[in-house]
Amino acid sequence: MSLYVLKFGGSSIATLQRISNVANIITDLKKRGNNIIVVTSAMQGITDKLLNYTKQFVVNSYENSYYRECDAVVSCGESIAAGILSLALQSEGIMAKSFNSWQIPIEASTNYSNATITNVNTKLLFDAISDNIIPVITGFQGLTKNNDIVTLGRGGSDATACALAYYTNADECYIYTDVSGVFTADPRVVTNAKLLKYVSYDEMIELAKYGAKVLQYKSVLLAKHYNVKVRVLSSFLNDDCSSLVTIKTNYINNKNIAGIAHSNDYVLLRTKININNIISKYETININNFNYLVKKSIVNNIANLLQENTYTMDNDIGTITIVGSNLNSIIDELTQLLINNNISIKYININKLSITYIVHVLHTEAALNILHKHIYN
Ligand code: ADP
Ligand code: ASP
Ligand code: MG
Repeated sequence: MSLYVLKFGGSSIATLQRISNVANIITDLKKRGNNIIVVTSAMQGITDKLLNYTKQFVVNSYENSYYRECDAVVSCGESIAAGILSLALQSEGIMAKSFNSWQIPIEASTNYSNATITNVNTKLLFDAISDNIIPVITGFQGLTKNNDIVTLGRGGSDATACALAYYTNADECYIYTDVSGVFTADPRVVTNAKLLKYVSYDEMIELAKYGAKVLQYKSVLLAKHYNVKVRVLSSFLNDDCSSLVTIKTNYINNKNIAGIAHSNDYVLLRTKININNIISKYETININNFNYLVKKSIVNNIANLLQENTYTMDNDIGTITIVGSNLNSIIDELTQLLINNNISIKYININKLSITYIVHVLHTEAALNILHKHIYN
């Protein structure tokens, strides 16, 4: 009998009707003779709403008191979703039981809002499975060694699913979302983006790091580390399409390019001094020792740590990142293409598996489409 971990993202369970649809998907796989563990995110919009509640009461916190309560609040969306999804399964005649991370427990490090899973006790999961009950686990949450609830960073249910797949030795980890898999670019921005049947861990890590939020960056690091096979597929369309993230890659053009990520979520921080040791605990992208991409959501936290007049922030930027191998041979051609199309390039960063163009924020989507058309058409 195969064992699958199935994770459903916020859009897949956005309404009660969508939850019924998800219950049907699970029931179908169960009736085909598979063992199943379900991981659920919060219903779409709930985590943002809870986060906004906590922002109404920014306090003079002692130690981590503020961040501890934020995680206690923000983690609740998943608890609600797990209970409702279990009820929906029961209404289909399937035995199901919700578990919060602390009940399992899913152990995690103590960095509030961005914790990392350190261990999973699988006893309750296998007990449920052997009683023919589907365990429905809250994603995004972890339990620290001090018995505090922590969250795993935005999109962190993906990490919960990958970790559970590893610790239970599941055959595959299915990440159900609102698109049919990983595409050559965000299919909501590039209308003729193409589905990638196979993506390597390393290329997916790079795509996710630079904005392809279909998988959380940290979850792909974890999947690579533990060699978890991750399949991304749609809970909306029954289209038999999916993308498999493993060590295998399969370029769909002759330019060795896997895909293009983009983001308007960053600020470009330029410093006069090396601040690596100050900001290393934050999830930032270190372009070099004096230039960093910092998520807009944490830019104030970082600014508070820096001395006045030692840095500048450029808020009006967007990034487009081309991911693949042997990119040196194509960089001049792509840069010239952007210049010819009047895209204002502020900075170019070259890594082993990627080229990032930092452009004016108003040019991000145009630049993405120009590059995509050139590379894939
Ligand atoms: P979920 O609620 O299932 O966790 P997310 O919103 O986190 O879903 O991720 C799915 C979204 O990721 C898609 O709707 C799509 O707009 C976006 N996305 C960005 N880049 C890509 C890409 N390369 N391939 C597929 N989806 C992408
Ligand atoms: N609900 C959390 C978020 O919105 C976790 C997740 O969706 O994976 O970030
Ligand atoms: Mg997600």
